[in-house]
Amino acid sequence: MKKFILLLFVFGVLNAGAQNPGKMDFETYNPPSTLVVPGKPVTTAKFPFIDVHNHQFRMPDMDLGTLIKEMDKLNMKVLVNLSGQSGESIKKSISNIKQNYPGRFMVFANVDFRGVGNDGWAENAARQLEEDVKNGACGLKIYKSLGFSVNDVNGKRVTVDDSRLDPVWKKAGELKIPVIIHTADPKPFWEPVDSTNERWLELTLHPNRRRGDTNPVPWDTLIAEQHRLFKKHSKTTFIAAHFGWFPNDLARLGKLLDEMPNVVIEFGAVIAELGRQPRTAKQFFTKYQDRILFGKDSWVPDEYATYFRVLETEDEYFPYHKKYHAFWAMYGMGLPDNILKKIYYKNALRIIPGIDKSQFPD
Ligand SMILES: [Zn+2]
Repeated sequence: MKKFILLLFVFGVLNAGAQNPGKMDFETYNPPSTLVVPGKPVTTAKFPFIDVHNHQFRMPDMDLGTLIKEMDKLNMKVLVNLSGQSGESIKKSISNIKQNYPGRFMVFANVDFRGVGNDGWAENAARQLEEDVKNGACGLKIYKSLGFSVNDVNGKRVTVDDSRLDPVWKKAGELKIPVIIHTADPKPFWEPVDSTNERWLELTLHPNRRRGDTNPVPWDTLIAEQHRLFKKHSKTTFIAAHFGWFPNDLARLGKLLDEMPNVVIEFGAVIAELGRQPRTAKQFFTKYQDRILFGKDSWVPDEYATYFRVLETEDEYFPYHKKYHAFWAMYGMGLPDNILKKIYYKNALRIIPGIDKSQFPD
C-alpha cells in the first residue's frame, strides 16, 4: 500500500511537471553568466574621443558643468550636439559654450522642413544654414522625420532624395560641413512582431516604432532614397547615422562605402551588432578605418562602457546594456591603437571643421 501511494505521488509530480514545464517570460529569463574568463568593464576610453552623435536639447541655457563632469569621467573630450536647431538657438548655444567650456562642445544645425513646395523654400533654408554656420554651427543634422513624416505643402511625403531640397545639400558641400543623416530605422521594425523578429521586445515595449510597407513606405524604398541622395551630391560629405542601418551586414555596407566615397558612418545605437561579430567587425574596421566615426546617440553615460569594451578589448561574452537591442552577449574586437585613434578622434577631426585639435594626441 505504501509503495502504491509513493508511486501515485511520483506520478503526480511528473504529471505536474509536464503540464507546467517551467515557462517564464523572455524578460525574466536573464541568468548571470557562469563563464570565467579574463576581462573587465572599461569605463574610460583609452584615448580622448569625440562623440559625433549626441543630443542636448537645452544647450542654449543649460549648465554645461554637469555634462563636463560626466564627459571627463568617460574621457570624452568633445561632444557634438546634433540638436542645435537654427537661428537664435545656435547663437545662444555657441555663446554658452564659448563663455564656459570653449572647445568642448560642437553644434550642428537643423533644417525646418515646414513649407517644402513653397516658392523659395530651399533657397531660404540654404541661406539659413549659411547663417547658422557663420554663427558657429559646424554641420547639419537631418532627423529621420525626413522620409517618415515630412510632408510638402500639398500633404505629400517628401522623399529623402526630393530634388526640391537639393540647394540645401549643395550649400552644405560649399560650406564644407558634413551632413549627418538618419534615414529609416532597423529593418525588423517593418517585419511581423512575432517569435522570428529580433526586435520583438523593443516593438512590444514601443509599439509606436512598428512600421510597414504603407507606414509610410517599405524599408528598402527609404534606404534607396538615401543612397540616391548620397550619389547625387557627391561633393557633399554625408555621415550615415547608425551605420546606415547595415551594421548587421558589413559586406553590403562595405560595398556601399566603396560606391560612395563621400560617405562616412557612425555606430550610434548599433554597437550590439558589432559586438556579436567581433572577427568580421574587426576586418571591416581595419579596411574602412578612415570612414568610421564614434557616435552613441542617447545620452546615458553608463552605456559608453559597452562601446569602449567592444572596440578596445578582446573580452568574451560580456553583457550588453539593453535587452531590447540585444539578448545576446558581446565580444571585443581588440582594435589596435592606430585604428582606435582614428575612430575616437582623427576621423572626426578631418570631417568636422573647427574642432580644437590641440586637445588630442598625435
Ligand atoms: Zn540621434
